Amino acid sequence: METKTFADLGLSPKVQAAIAAAGYVAPTPIQAAAIPVAVTGRDVLGIAQTGTGKTASFTLPMITRLETGRARARMPRSLILAPTRELAAQVAQSFEKYGVNHKLSLALLIGGVSMDDQVKKLDRGVDVLIATPGRLLDHFGRGRVMLMGVEILVIDEADRMLDMGFIPDIEKICKLLPPRRQTLFFSATMPPEITRLVNQFLNNPERIEVAKPATTAKTITQRFVYCQNGEDWAKREVLRDMIRDGNVKNAIIFCNRKRDVAVLHKSLTKHGFNAGALHGDMDQTSRMETLDKFRNGEIMLLAASDVAARGLDIPEVSHVFNFDLPWAADDYVHRIGRTGRAGHEGHSISLVSPDDLKFVKDIEKITGETAVWLGEPPSEEDIAGAGKRRRGRGGRGQASGGREKSAKPHRGSEHGRREQKPAADKQPRSHAPSRDSEAPRAHGRGEQPPSPSRQHAQPRREHPQRSAHRNEQPTVDAWTDEPKAPRRAERAPEKRQAAQEQPRSKAPPPQKGGERLGFAENMPAFMRKPARPIKVPGRG
Ligand code: AMP
Repeated sequence: METKTFADLGLSPKVQAAIAAAGYVAPTPIQAAAIPVAVTGRDVLGIAQTGTGKTASFTLPMITRLETGRARARMPRSLILAPTRELAAQVAQSFEKYGVNHKLSLALLIGGVSMDDQVKKLDRGVDVLIATPGRLLDHFGRGRVMLMGVEILVIDEADRMLDMGFIPDIEKICKLLPPRRQTLFFSATMPPEITRLVNQFLNNPERIEVAKPATTAKTITQRFVYCQNGEDWAKREVLRDMIRDGNVKNAIIFCNRKRDVAVLHKSLTKHGFNAGALHGDMDQTSRMETLDKFRNGEIMLLAASDVAARGLDIPEVSHVFNFDLPWAADDYVHRIGRTGRAGHEGHSISLVSPDDLKFVKDIEKITGETAVWLGEPPSEEDIAGAGKRRRGRGGRGQASGGREKSAKPHRGSEHGRREQKPAADKQPRSHAPSRDSEAPRAHGRGEQPPSPSRQHAQPRREHPQRSAHRNEQPTVDAWTDEPKAPRRAERAPEKRQAAQEQPRSKAPPPQKGGERLGFAENMPAFMRKPARPIKVPGRG
């Protein structure tokens, strides 16, 4: 197929100038296919994931089409629906970048931030309204916004909307819009509920499907570290060594559970690392503050959960660590997609406990790559044992932290588990294996340098006695990894998932203050600052 340039896509000269200023040389496949259709006003069904350049594939033609015409009070000319606050804020950021040569006005209706400015803008008239569905319906219900002037509707990440229970809200919103409009609809997958929505609300769309970024992100070096001692304290030690020795500029570290995100964050901080946390129970202000600090380099390490991480566009993350392997292979793809973006070199390092070994095969299948192990790989016996092992790591998520909402159901057993540190931990601390020790799993075990996890590991044969043995061991302080007196397992109440916009959530009361400044003021602070290189603690 002939390679297209941005000049071939029917975009206006002002939009093309903004693309050149953004440094983009050529359109991505979704852009090359969707933009020429979207600029004509035709509906588009884009099947594409984050990381493919899909945001520009709808914002660029929208800006071109909105060049003519004028906004009227409370009647936005276009509407973009996104499933989460972060995604909505990122789309707003794209408008700022690609609309630099335009005077389009934009409002952002998302939960958790003051709406005073945004409502004032709506009153004056906006060209682009970006919203999460629940928050939009709240404002509509209060008469602050009317939808009959919408000429272009974008639904972004429709399958996530489905996961989050937003489909009824989407249907309501679509029925409030004029039937003669353009709809640009994006989803990474097409489950039957989404197909039904497309059939109901799109008019003869052009269907465009692009490959998952997982199959194209050759810029990411993926490595796995086998932690035969799968206890969290042992994994934290391995992680610290990897961070110290791994040429890490900045990193996102994923945990499967909210509670573990908080524990890891505190532990890293106690050990002198410059770290922050991002999970679904944090309020919007703290999440934005944390992201802001991470983007501008004040924070080097970000412990995060899947919900917090989806769709984040944080440029130049040098490393992604999986403190836990995700239970679903597609979450692995999403996680590592935070690094190696837009042609930059990226590294992903996954800590694999014996219990998590069974997930490696699924990951190999979805990425099409054989796992490459740093340090000593798991033995054939370890791998064979993985399938027979009881699934999961105890019911901690249920008892004391809870899983993030979008994650797959926990398949583990339900009994609680305390973090304990065996006597082996009194050994001097080991170092993470160097990159020289990387080896595919097929190589003999004897050829591998001792892995950090093995140096601290209890022999696997001891596992059956572990629980009895534990009672004689001191408990490990989760923040410091120092031994301490045993304590009862915590039982924190389940908390609401504040990370995600709840359907029909109540809007906060309008607040006073805040003058309208211009286009960029729509952006939360964390979206405004560029990332810059930062110093690694513990090195030079
Ligand atoms: P998205 O899939 O929209 O989240 O975009 C992923 C990343 O690719 C973002 O950081 C964009 O700024 C970047 N990007 C989008 N289009 C291009 C392009 N044509 N060339 C280079 N980078 C791009």
